[in-house]
Amino acid sequence: MEIIRTPRMMREIIKDLKAKSKSIGFVPTMGALHEGHLSLIRRAKDDNDITIVSIFVNPIQFGKGEDFDRYPRDFDTDCEKIKNFGVDYLFYPDAKILYPEGYSTFVNVENLSNKLCGKFRPGHFRGVATIVCKLFNIISPNRAYFGQKDYQQTLIIKRMVEDLNFDIEIIVCPTVREVDGLAMSSRNSYLSEKEREAATVIYKALKEGERLLKAHEDPREVTNKINEILKEERLVKEIQYAGVFDPLTLDEAKEKKNNYLIAIALKIGDTRLIDNILVEVN
Ligand code: AMP
Repeated sequence: MEIIRTPRMMREIIKDLKAKSKSIGFVPTMGALHEGHLSLIRRAKDDNDITIVSIFVNPIQFGKGEDFDRYPRDFDTDCEKIKNFGVDYLFYPDAKILYPEGYSTFVNVENLSNKLCGKFRPGHFRGVATIVCKLFNIISPNRAYFGQKDYQQTLIIKRMVEDLNFDIEIIVCPTVREVDGLAMSSRNSYLSEKEREAATVIYKALKEGERLLKAHEDPREVTNKINEILKEERLVKEIQYAGVFDPLTLDEAKEKKNNYLIAIALKIGDTRLIDNILVEVN
């Protein structure tokens, strides 16, 4: 695995790979790699000749008072984890190279970016869309891999790819969970033992919501029930949103239909956790 630190070097390699007609699979990450990330890498390996992973903690997607400074960073352990995976290139740029003095261009995917997480993290998806756009321009992959764990992000990236005419296939991979259902996340490392236990309430609420929707309950009733379950957990400090949504528009689901998104964002202590599931009702 070769570690590449500059866009210029990365581009030279890409040019060479394209000349050899190699297909390129790309997995963007912020590091602190876990099984969720590794599942995307596995899939990229299966689908493409060449796999490129990026590690970059993108400063512009963190708001004031968010966890940019304390976000877990452990480059050596990350390298150790992926070096036996057959990753061909690890792109590991410096923030000063990607956002030099005078940097002024941002990508804003309107509408979708203002809903759910967007309401609580203003500017977050503008930061995400901008960095993904830059990485897509540097790497020009054939396929890029994202986790369903960040469902809203996948919708926004797909919209951006469509709107800005990127010739890149976006592949969304299932959420990888701990045995008790908690979605794997780099931020889970912030949780104390008690908080970690309390966090299992998220998956319980999602699964109960799924059960009720499949039993043809009204989605607004299901939203109420999900909130009741979450409120019963003493360590849940703030429910930012929790309920049943339309999987395409992310608006609250107010009537019965065949496809729903159940999505939750809450804080346990100072740790913000998100999760979701898609539900299909026959
Ligand atoms: P991050 O490093 O948190 O920016 O995540 C990088 C990619 O990994 C994103 O596409 C995430 O959606 C994906 N990802 C994070 N956690 C999981 C998980 N538990 N299962 C599947 N994909 C995940």
